[in-house]
Amino acid sequence: MTIFDMHCHLQDTRLKPLLDDVFERALRAGVKGFLNCSTEQNDWEDVLDIALTRLNVIPAFGVHPWYLGNLADDWEMVLESYLNRVPSLVGEIGLDREKDPGNLDMQEEIFIKQLEIAVKQGLPVNIHCRKAWDRLLHLAKPYRKKLAGMIIHSYSGTIDLIKPLLELNAYFSFSLSLTRPRNTRVQKTVCAVPIDRLVFETDSPDIPPYKDGKVDYKVPNEPANILLGLQKAADMRGVPVEELAEQAWSNSIRLLKPYLPKQELSK
Ligand SMILES: [Zn+2]
Repeated sequence: MTIFDMHCHLQDTRLKPLLDDVFERALRAGVKGFLNCSTEQNDWEDVLDIALTRLNVIPAFGVHPWYLGNLADDWEMVLESYLNRVPSLVGEIGLDREKDPGNLDMQEEIFIKQLEIAVKQGLPVNIHCRKAWDRLLHLAKPYRKKLAGMIIHSYSGTIDLIKPLLELNAYFSFSLSLTRPRNTRVQKTVCAVPIDRLVFETDSPDIPPYKDGKVDYKVPNEPANILLGLQKAADMRGVPVEELAEQAWSNSIRLLKPYLPKQELSK
């Protein structure tokens, strides 16, 4: 099986010291592509370094709605300089009404600025959206035809939102929250996404899987666990996991191909 982890944070301090082992376990599990997302300006350099020194890692540079306070005055210029250095995406960017509803205006302003940068550079975006779907649809609509693509990370929206998001050319990425027995809503949603728009991720080191009867928050999540999510989705959709993995891999490659490093991903 060949699997693409469409959203992880390998630069996180919980994973960085373990990276040799993390990559080895990922490779053994069949994970041969990583979309490694930054969350704030402070980690852009580490994200670049991992992309330059590890195989098959595509970086995404951007500012997550939780970390708007850590931006330098010239952050837009700096962001563009990172995007120009290596084939990359813009991410993780987005809107979050759940965690800190106090700064929504600023969230929207920074989000739009990053959509503009993505359009200018011809790059897809990796989106975080929590309880702000109406605003996402409203703000992203003018960019529908201009954006090179959109991945909704750890999709938590309703089935009804799939159609309007498809009109924005979205791909739907499912995390290991799928594996939690009580999360029947996401398990139903994963069945409703068109097969050619479905991709998978771990959000490592966050969103650990349900394993051995529990979710262990003390152990950092890692890309090798992605198989648990794929297996759950395959069970829910009633298809062999190999078939789903193959489809998800080709979806990832279709979207990311223009941004892959020159040496093609080694399958
Ligand atoms: Zn993330």
